Amino acid sequence: MDLFRKCYEFHDADVIKQAGFYSYFRTITSAQDPVVMIDGKPVIMLGSNNYLGLTSHPEVKEAARQAIAKYGSGCAGSRFLNGTLDIHVQLEEKLAAFIKKPAALMFSTGFQVNLGVISCLLDRGDVVYLDKLDHACIIDGARLGFGAAVKFNHNDMADLGRRLALHDSKRAALVVVDGVFSMEGDIVDLPGLVAAAASQSCKIMVDDAHGIGVLGANGRGTAEHFGLEDKVDLIMGTFSKSLASVGGFIAGEAKVVDYIRHHARSLIFSAAPPPASVAATLKAVEIIEREPERRTQLWENTHFMAEGLTSLGFNTGNSATPVIPVLAGEDVIAFKLACRLQDEGVFVNPIVSPAVPPGHALLRTSYMATHTREHLARALDAFKKVGREVGLIP
Ligand code: PMP
Repeated sequence: MDLFRKCYEFHDADVIKQAGFYSYFRTITSAQDPVVMIDGKPVIMLGSNNYLGLTSHPEVKEAARQAIAKYGSGCAGSRFLNGTLDIHVQLEEKLAAFIKKPAALMFSTGFQVNLGVISCLLDRGDVVYLDKLDHACIIDGARLGFGAAVKFNHNDMADLGRRLALHDSKRAALVVVDGVFSMEGDIVDLPGLVAAAASQSCKIMVDDAHGIGVLGANGRGTAEHFGLEDKVDLIMGTFSKSLASVGGFIAGEAKVVDYIRHHARSLIFSAAPPPASVAATLKAVEIIEREPERRTQLWENTHFMAEGLTSLGFNTGNSATPVIPVLAGEDVIAFKLACRLQDEGVFVNPIVSPAVPPGHALLRTSYMATHTREHLARALDAFKKVGREVGLIP
């Protein structure tokens, strides 16, 4: 039997390419601004997680340049051994203070945070409770751990409560949820979750990849939004969204973070985040603290688009954040819409099964503080034209 047989027999992508609807791995040849260049054409970017527009902030870019000048391009080793720089430690201290937890620990990607943290905490006999729509890296982290995983219905705290009622209290428990669900843009029912978890002294971890910088009066994320920061044991964040870089962190009690530091394999056996990324993130956190008006603008843009899309007749599900899905139904409709929107100068991401259940394909749209009203109005015009063409709106 040839191991590569499945590769030779994989034709799904070719079929979509031949139909002219393939819109993955599109190549951008410009900065990650509200308008990007693709195939030599300007396209309004409604698919980025650069929520605050900080990847192009002159101070962020300058901080990255200076870090390269001082430390070089890479760390050539793991944080555990030779890869820890003073700016890694500074950023961890800054993140802990920002998130208001005693300690924080940085990893090279957000994906590695969830892989390393969840797997190292879950020993044999422990149980992790997961929302059915949790991000793939939470699911994979749970798979790598030795404990058992139990899934509950999406954002259904009554279902979580029923499952926790059956929990054997001799076993340790952890519940892990997205703060903001990455495709649907809805916010976790954190008050409901805290109440359900209290009955079993279950620890709570929130992946706030899409909440940090976006939610809460100070941009501290989902827990701040609900005033429940002291009830969440572990807050995870990534640098690849509002924080304008790449990398991720976990914040929590000092003893717990120290345990993770010495046990998480995706930290110990992987190279440290490069100096430029670390310095860019440090500057991004500083700007988030200093310029709350960016968050205000992001929310104004979000409300404008949520209202615009729904008044055109699109179904945007339960979105309550700058991630606004446009429900398309069949995969082919999502593909057609994404391609036609690009022809009309708008970039959106088609999301199809298995990322969503079959028949529930959607366009994931997401907004930035730096989009202007003119960008957004043009995007709505394109949505109107293309939505009518495919019969999604009247
Ligand atoms: N968690 C969530 C909810 C995400 O959406 C993502 C990335 N899209 C990650 C974790 C992984 O983060 P990173 O891209 O930094 O690896």
